[in-house]
Amino acid sequence: MIDYKSEAQELFPYNQQLRRDFHRHPELGFQEVRTAGIVARDLTELGLEVSTGIGKTGVVATLEGARPGPVLLVRFDMDALPIQEETGAEYASETPGVMHACGHDGHTAIGLTVAKMLEAHKDELGGTVKLVFQPAEEGLGGAEAMVADGVLDQPKPGQSLSLHLWNDKPLGWIGVTPGPAMSASDRFTVKIIGRGGHGAAPYITIDPVVAGAQVITALQNIVSRNVDPLEAAVVTVTSMVGGEAFNVIPESVVLKGTIRTFNPEVRSIVLERFEAIASGVSNAMGCQAEVDLKSITPAVSNDPVIAAQVFEVANKIYPQAEISTDERTMGSEDMAYMMDDIPGCYFFIGSADHERGLDAGHHHPKFDFNEGALTTGAALMASVVQDFLK
Ligand SMILES: [Zn+2]
Ligand SMILES: [Zn+2]
Repeated sequence: MIDYKSEAQELFPYNQQLRRDFHRHPELGFQEVRTAGIVARDLTELGLEVSTGIGKTGVVATLEGARPGPVLLVRFDMDALPIQEETGAEYASETPGVMHACGHDGHTAIGLTVAKMLEAHKDELGGTVKLVFQPAEEGLGGAEAMVADGVLDQPKPGQSLSLHLWNDKPLGWIGVTPGPAMSASDRFTVKIIGRGGHGAAPYITIDPVVAGAQVITALQNIVSRNVDPLEAAVVTVTSMVGGEAFNVIPESVVLKGTIRTFNPEVRSIVLERFEAIASGVSNAMGCQAEVDLKSITPAVSNDPVIAAQVFEVANKIYPQAEISTDERTMGSEDMAYMMDDIPGCYFFIGSADHERGLDAGHHHPKFDFNEGALTTGAALMASVVQDFLK
C-alpha cells in the first residue's frame, strides 16, 4: 500500500500555503474566479485534462490511471461566506465581509494535494478519478449547477467521495457514517395577509401580527406531535417581518425559516403538516396565508458498503484515531445532489484544537482549525481513492 500518510505530511507546506492563500482571498458562491484560476493552474501543471466554467466557476479534472477501471468522482467545495472575520489570524481574510468560515479553503487545498499525490501514483491506479472543485455550496446551488453542466456524464462516475473538515470534533477524530449523515433542507416563506389599520382599533382590523405569533407557536407541534420521537426533524422560524410603526397594524407579515429532516417519509409528513398548520391557523385568525416551500438539498445518505470501505481504510492508516460511525448533523450539503445519482460516502475530518482556541463552530466569525487536519484529509482521501481503484 502506498504511504499517502507520509506523502501528505511531506506535502503539508504546499497544502498549508494554498489553504492560507485561499483564506486571505475568500470568494462568495459563483464568484470563485481567483480560487478556480489557481485550482485550474495547479491541475494543468500536473498534466491533467482540465475543464473550467462547469457550473459557472467550477473546475473538473480527469486523472486516468494506468489500467482501465471504474470512474470515481471526488468532490471539494471552494466558496466562502458573507461573514466579517474576527480570528485575528495572520492569514485572515483581506476582503471585508467575506470569510472562509466553513473550511472550504481547506477542502480546496486538500483537493489539490490529493491530485498531486494521485498523479504521482497514477501507474498504480486502475480507473479514472474525476476531481471536482465545486462553487457555491453554501445554499446557492453550486452542485446543481455542475450537474446541469454535465459533471455526472462523460465519463459517468460509478461512485462518489467527499469530505468536510469538522470543528465539532478535535483533530484525530474521523467520522464515517453509513446511511443518512446530513439532513435534507427545505426553506419556507409564509405571507400572512390580514387587514391593516389603527393600532388603537384592532377590532376593525384583521391583525396578521397576532396570527403570525399563533402560527409560529402552532408550528412547534409538528416535531413534538407529528414526528416519530425516534426520528429527527427541525422546524425553525428565523424571521418574522411586518409593520414598522408603533401605532399601525400592518396589512401582512412574512415568516421565513428552515425545515431539516433525514428520512424522506418524515420530510413529507413535516411539509404536509407545515402547510396545513400555516394555512389553517392563519384562516382561523381571519387571515389568508401564502405558503411557499422550496427544497434546498436532499439528505446526504452514505452508501453502507462504500462507507464500510472508507472506514476500513481510515482504520488502517489511522489506527489510533477515534473513528465514529454515528456522526449525523442537521446541517445540509448540496453534495446530496451528486450522491442522489452516484452512490458514495461523505466523511468528516475532526479539525478543532481546544488548547489553541481553534474550536469555534462552522460559520462563526472566529472559525479556524488545526491545519493538521489538512494532512489527515489529504492522506485519507488519497488512500481511499487508491483503495477503490487498486
Ligand atoms: Zn457551511
Ligand atoms: Zn461547508
